[in-house]
Amino acid sequence: MLEKLIFEKSSPGRTAYSLPECDVPVGANNYSPLPIPKRFLRDEIAELPEVAEIDVVRHFTRLSQLNYSVDTNFYPLGSCTMKYNPKVNEDVSRYEGFVNLHPYQSQEQCQGILQILYDLEEFLAEICGMDAFTLQPAAGAHGEFVGMLISHAYHVKNGKRRNKIIIPDSAHGTNPASAAMCGFDIVEVKSNSQGLIDIETLKRNMDSDVAALMLTNPNTLGLFEKDILKIAEIVHDVDALLYLDGANMNAMLGITRPGDMGIDILHLNLHKTFSTPHGGGGPGAGPLGVVKKLVPFLPAPRITKKNDSYKWQYDFPDSIGRVKPFYGNTGVLIRAYAYILSIGSEGLRKIGKGAIINANYLRKKLSGYIEIPYGERCMHEFVTSTKKLKANGIATLDIAKRLLDYGFHSPTIYFPLIVEDALMIEPTDTETRETLDEFAETLIKIIEEARTCPEILKKAPHNTPVSRLDEVQAARNPDLRWRKQG
Ligand SMILES: *Cc1c(COP(=O)(O)O)cnc(C)c1O
Repeated sequence: MLEKLIFEKSSPGRTAYSLPECDVPVGANNYSPLPIPKRFLRDEIAELPEVAEIDVVRHFTRLSQLNYSVDTNFYPLGSCTMKYNPKVNEDVSRYEGFVNLHPYQSQEQCQGILQILYDLEEFLAEICGMDAFTLQPAAGAHGEFVGMLISHAYHVKNGKRRNKIIIPDSAHGTNPASAAMCGFDIVEVKSNSQGLIDIETLKRNMDSDVAALMLTNPNTLGLFEKDILKIAEIVHDVDALLYLDGANMNAMLGITRPGDMGIDILHLNLHKTFSTPHGGGGPGAGPLGVVKKLVPFLPAPRITKKNDSYKWQYDFPDSIGRVKPFYGNTGVLIRAYAYILSIGSEGLRKIGKGAIINANYLRKKLSGYIEIPYGERCMHEFVTSTKKLKANGIATLDIAKRLLDYGFHSPTIYFPLIVEDALMIEPTDTETRETLDEFAETLIKIIEEARTCPEILKKAPHNTPVSRLDEVQAARNPDLRWRKQG
């Protein structure tokens, strides 16, 4: 099943093109007509693969099929919202008018894209119940970082630097990392027996040195913090800020709004919720929304509108400054804009409901077969535990690897940390009931295999191009270079 390298398919003289002889005068070096200084030129033509056109096509088509993707199979990756992204949004983001824009073009020539970005900020503010958004951050963690900078600037402006950020033990790892990068001390609060924030513990840790509480709601267990209003009150009583990690906005779309729950600041992951595929490392976008009192601190420049004309405005004296060059990751922003416009507010609500119904359907199908330590019902995702299979010598990783044999991507494993041997499942809104049934039946079958023939699981996957890789070796000593034999 392994595809040879294109270099290994090379045969001298073979080409993938047929062009007439070059009629441009040849330069001094025999092949470049350009006035490039000799020291920058090769002595010999690079050893590129020489392959026929059909072999180029077959090679790259086969390679593309080795890739696992949402377009080929189900991807129930918890905390990541790997849902299907409508192709129409891909098309729109590739319109010539967008892709040929140059970041140094004058603002008068870029009114269209400025209008789109301005409107997108307004859409996101409306969806989240916030007063303003910045589209600058390039990822979720970048949004968190910007949010932390703003929290710092806010307290300094109010006369006193604050040093602590409170973060629940179920949080995504980027939360404490972003806060620490801004120089804050992290105070971790333990979840209670229901997997939610413990109000008494929160109260005990809250004082006037706390800059913000960083909350994920629905939290990483897929549970809604039902005491959110009480939590907001406790935070605001000491004039701290309530930060929401909104990477998992799917379950709230069109149903409820963070701003209405007392959230002061939040980031979204457009590459999870708003129609940008992800998983390949980017690009993404992590817009950040704030309430009125934090607007002056947003990154500048900001887009302003006057008499139907748009421009970048730089004059915001309290701004934390620029966090991304030019217009941000516009391709991602355009997809989100097209997505929101094409589905409308009813569509958004359907997504929210679909995410919740699908997760609960799957949760119910699996309960009784696999341990689900927290909650009776969930929001967009739920966390199972394979702890009991340890007695058969089976690790969560073995289950994850075995799923690949049956054509399913593995759920997130070993996160959140508060669940031992966690297997975290987020089916998303875009899957059909049949797919969910098939996944549930497969997982149940694998759990049965774990009891009856554990050896199959320990050596899984069996049907993939490569089986278990030495991931540490691959990360520390990657060998990515082809060297000619002999
Ligand atoms: C994905 C995710 C993040 C980080 O987003 P990136 O774009 O990967 O930086 C933060 N918090 C939660 C809950 C997430 O799921």
